[in-house]
Amino acid sequence: MSTDASDLAAPVVAPPGFFLETVRTVHHWTDRLFSFTCTRDPHFRFTAGQFAMIGLMVGGKPLVRAYSMVSPPWEDHLEFLSIKVQDGPLTSRLQHIVPGDRVLIGRKATGTLVTDNLAPGGVLWFFATGTGLAPFMSLLREPGTYDRFDRVVLVHTVRQAAELAYRELISKDLPAHELLGELVRDRLTYLPSVTREPFARQSRITTMIESGSLTADLGLPPLSPERDRAMLCGSEAMNADVRALLEARGFTEGSNSSPGTYVVEKAFVTK
Ligand code: FAD
Repeated sequence: MSTDASDLAAPVVAPPGFFLETVRTVHHWTDRLFSFTCTRDPHFRFTAGQFAMIGLMVGGKPLVRAYSMVSPPWEDHLEFLSIKVQDGPLTSRLQHIVPGDRVLIGRKATGTLVTDNLAPGGVLWFFATGTGLAPFMSLLREPGTYDRFDRVVLVHTVRQAAELAYRELISKDLPAHELLGELVRDRLTYLPSVTREPFARQSRITTMIESGSLTADLGLPPLSPERDRAMLCGSEAMNADVRALLEARGFTEGSNSSPGTYVVEKAFVTK
């Protein structure tokens, strides 16, 4: 797929249903992963954990895909974490954005990974693979998350250590943050894991749950729907495997109409 620089040129008006925003910063983590920030229309409202349709004008039409907001709802800008699929209709182009380019942000945010869909509980587990980290970056910087749960544990599994996006922010910057620091230092645990190269923790999420090391390593009792709540965001395979492990332990899926003990969202759809 070729990338036409004119695709990134700013259209004059936003198409119906979209805000037209300006890219502020772009950070390339690896040749497969990047993130960017952009301006945020004050009318764009969302809840931590939700996603929106975002993209570019291509050939005079919106080319958009689902993206979870990385930034928390209280930030005045938006941030996204993106895969680079070399022949992907959107990301073959989106990976070339630079500050000043215009991006489309769908006006309506939605999604299941919101704390309202979970019954109150003690420990909230975020299970993410790859770009599935994105919604949890918003949730873990939302003070309301800590109002509802005593403790938050983020488990992020990737193939290579370089794919542990936001590792410094989570482990160093957030604990030092003047407003969130105290909450995060006392209540957030970060468990990064790498499966394809040497790293301190090399297990898959499923292995950690099955072996019990996930909870035992933190001095916690085994996962239980009495006390634990879980949010899953990863590949279809990871979601299915972790869902089965949770359901075997008595967890039930929550929704807006009926809060449960876990919720799940695909980080992407495999075609
Ligand atoms: P597509 O034609 O959409 O995808 C081509 C193929 O690339 C897919 O079949 C799949 O095999 C692979 N692929 C797509 N996305 C990913 C991914 N994220 N990780 C690994 N492989 C992938 N993507 C993000 O990068 N960040 C997000 O925050 C994000 N949030 C999403 C939220 C939801 C609810 C859903 C359903 C998807 C989300 N995606 C996210 C995926 C995103 O919508 C697009 O699929 C992705 O941007 C690629 O677009 P594309 O047009 O380049 O290729």
